[in-house]
Amino acid sequence: MSNLDRTPTLVSCGGRAGVPGEPVTELLAGRVVPLGGSTEVRRLLPTLGRRMVGAWCFIDHYGPDDIEREPGMQVPPHPHMGLQTVSWLRGGEVLHRDSLGSVATLRPGMLGLMTSGRAISHAEQSPREHGRYLHGAQLWVALPDGDRNIAPSWEFHPELPVVTGPGGLRGTVFMGEVDGTASPGTAYSPLVGMDLTLPAGTRAELPVEPDFEYAVVALSGAPEVAGVRVEPGSLLYLGTGRSGLALRADDAADLLLLGGEPFEEEIVMWWNFVARTGEEISQARKAWMESDRFGVVSGYDGDPVPAPVLPDLPLKPRGRVR
Ligand code: MN
Repeated sequence: MSNLDRTPTLVSCGGRAGVPGEPVTELLAGRVVPLGGSTEVRRLLPTLGRRMVGAWCFIDHYGPDDIEREPGMQVPPHPHMGLQTVSWLRGGEVLHRDSLGSVATLRPGMLGLMTSGRAISHAEQSPREHGRYLHGAQLWVALPDGDRNIAPSWEFHPELPVVTGPGGLRGTVFMGEVDGTASPGTAYSPLVGMDLTLPAGTRAELPVEPDFEYAVVALSGAPEVAGVRVEPGSLLYLGTGRSGLALRADDAADLLLLGGEPFEEEIVMWWNFVARTGEEISQARKAWMESDRFGVVSGYDGDPVPAPVLPDLPLKPRGRVR
């Protein structure tokens, strides 16, 4: 998806300064970003309270929305740079098309992983014939400096490893690795992205990596994680230094666990781009509006998304600000 904020601000993040060296529990409210019509997304990262979790630098949670009589998701061609987009569905389907010529229909449990490298563009739409409910998350992973200018690529993984736990707990590892179970998706830094289904009555301890920082997002229900109740619309940041994560759900719940090694490099983010300087962002914006650097998405009936106006700001990385 595109960053749908019409007036995106420039965000500086990365570096270890804001990463606690111990477990914490910070419940951080997201921000509602209108998507047009009756639809909206919950922006859970970056927020004023937290800008990255490992290399994860963007989390939008949308739905479940009843789109039975609506077109559903209609995101025209837009560019990306310096990041990977991780498309994850809990309900419905999304048709992906990109400037490499990839076409894929994503459904729940399937990973759509687009590595932008230096430049790519894509469009995402609910297919004309679609299910009643659309529910999912759009996640971005910042690429390390050594990989951020690689050639763009698209990976579609319909089958992912599943781990099970006591009482019917079920986890799908869609990025990285947890407790020896690894996603087939290509990752460029040590991280994990996992979808967890907690049946009613869950009491479990998930083994995690002490060197990683972690956060969880509730997709449905109100699970308790590390003793804190978390509901859709908030992100629970968990810090580092944990070897296990206590999961509890009196009623059925679904959540995302996202974590990784704290991202050492300082980055700047604006709109759909991750870079190291404001100059690079400015050049990328100009290239999207005036050149074919980001390629062309064929098969999409409509115009590409114009870039928003770039704010007049000093655009240097300045470390993580809390
Ligand atoms: Mn996108």
